[in-house]
Amino acid sequence: MVFASTALAQTPYDLLLKGGHVIDAKNNISALRDVAIRGGKIAAVEENIPASMARRTIDVSSLYVTPGLVDIHEHVFAGTMDREYTGENCVRADAFSFRSGVTTVVDAGSSGWRNFGAFRDEVIYRQKTRVFALLNIVGHGMGGRMDVEQNTKDMDPVRTAEEARRNSDVVVGIKIAHYAGPEWIAVDRAVEAGRLANIPVMVDFATFRPERPFQELVLIHLRPGDIYTHQYLSAVPMLDADGRVLPYLFEARKRGVIFDVGHGGGSFYFRQAIPALKQGFVPDSISTDVHTDSMNAGMKDMLNLMSKFLNMGMSLDDVIACTTSHPAREIHHEELGNLSVGSVADVAVLRLVRGDFGFVDSAGLRMKGDRKLVGELTLREGRVVWDLNGISAEDWDKAARR
Ligand SMILES: [Zn+2]
Repeated sequence: MVFASTALAQTPYDLLLKGGHVIDAKNNISALRDVAIRGGKIAAVEENIPASMARRTIDVSSLYVTPGLVDIHEHVFAGTMDREYTGENCVRADAFSFRSGVTTVVDAGSSGWRNFGAFRDEVIYRQKTRVFALLNIVGHGMGGRMDVEQNTKDMDPVRTAEEARRNSDVVVGIKIAHYAGPEWIAVDRAVEAGRLANIPVMVDFATFRPERPFQELVLIHLRPGDIYTHQYLSAVPMLDADGRVLPYLFEARKRGVIFDVGHGGGSFYFRQAIPALKQGFVPDSISTDVHTDSMNAGMKDMLNLMSKFLNMGMSLDDVIACTTSHPAREIHHEELGNLSVGSVADVAVLRLVRGDFGFVDSAGLRMKGDRKLVGELTLREGRVVWDLNGISAEDWDKAARR
C-alpha cells in the first residue's frame, strides 16, 4: 500500500493525451500540446508532459484535440407519445452525441413550461451527455397537435420565465419556432420571457410574411445576444441581384444578434452559404438541428456539418471555435467549450482525413470536397465515452488475461 500511494504521488495525472494538435479558441491555442487530466478536469496543457506523470497515456499524434463540441440546436425529447418533435422525431442524445465529439447538446424548444418537467426527469437527468434546454414559448412545446405552435393563447411569458428560473441549472434560453401568423406576437412574447428570466431567445423563423419581414426581426425585435437559427435558409433575404450579401445582415450582427447555422432537414442551402461565407457573413455558431429526418438527409451529424464548412473554405480553427467556445458563450456557459486548466475534461479527439467526399444541402444538391472530420475519441468528465479505433485500449495479445 505504501508503494502504491508513493507511485500515485509520482503520477499526478489520471490521463494524458500526448502529441496531438490542440485547438482551443478561447485560449488562442492552435499548436502541438499535451493535455493532462485529473479528477475529471483539465490539469495541464503544455508542450511536453512526460508519460511517466500519468497513470495512463493515449497517443493522439496526428490527431486534433479540441474541447468537447457544443451543439446548441438539437431535438432530444425522445419518447413514444404522438408528438412531432417531442416524440418519434427526436433522437436520444447519447446515441448521437459522443460519436461526433459532442459532449453538450441544447434541445431547442421541444418542450414548453407544461411538459418541461417530464423532459427534465425522463431525458435531461438520465443522459450521460450534458443536456440543456431552450424552453419553447408555447406551453406545450412542439408537442401535441400539429398546430400547437400556432396557439398564441398558450404563449405565456410569465409562466415560461418562471419555469426557466426554477430550472436555471439546465434551461439556457427561450425558443420560438414555426409561427406562421402575420403578427409579431410570438417573437415578442418569447423576447419578454427571455427578458424576465435574463436568458437569450432563439428564433426559428420558418414562415416568412410581408407583414413581418425578416429584416425587422433581426434589426428591431431581437435583442443583442438573441439568436437566429437557420442562418442559410433559402427564405432568408441574403443576396442582392448581383450576388452581394445584403448590408442589413452585417448591421444586425453589429447590433449583437447572433447567427447560428441550425442545418436541420430544410434550412441549409449552398447557394446561400457559399457566397455569404466568401463575403464574410460567417456563422457565429454551427449547430445541427438533429432530428430523425435531418440525420438521414444532408445534415447527418455534427462532424459532417463541420466538414461542409471546412470544404466551403472556413479554417479548421474557425470551425472549432464555432462548435466550442462560441456556442458556450451564446448560452451563457463560458465554463464549457474550452480546455482551460480547471475546466471540466470534456474533450473531442478528431482525425482529419483526405479523400473524395460529397456533401448534400437541403435542396438535395451536392458539393464535392476532399476533407472530412472523423470522431476518434471523446471524453466526458475525463472518462472515455467513445473510442472509434480503440486508441485508449490495450492490444489483446499483449494484455494480461481478463
Ligand atoms: Zn429545430
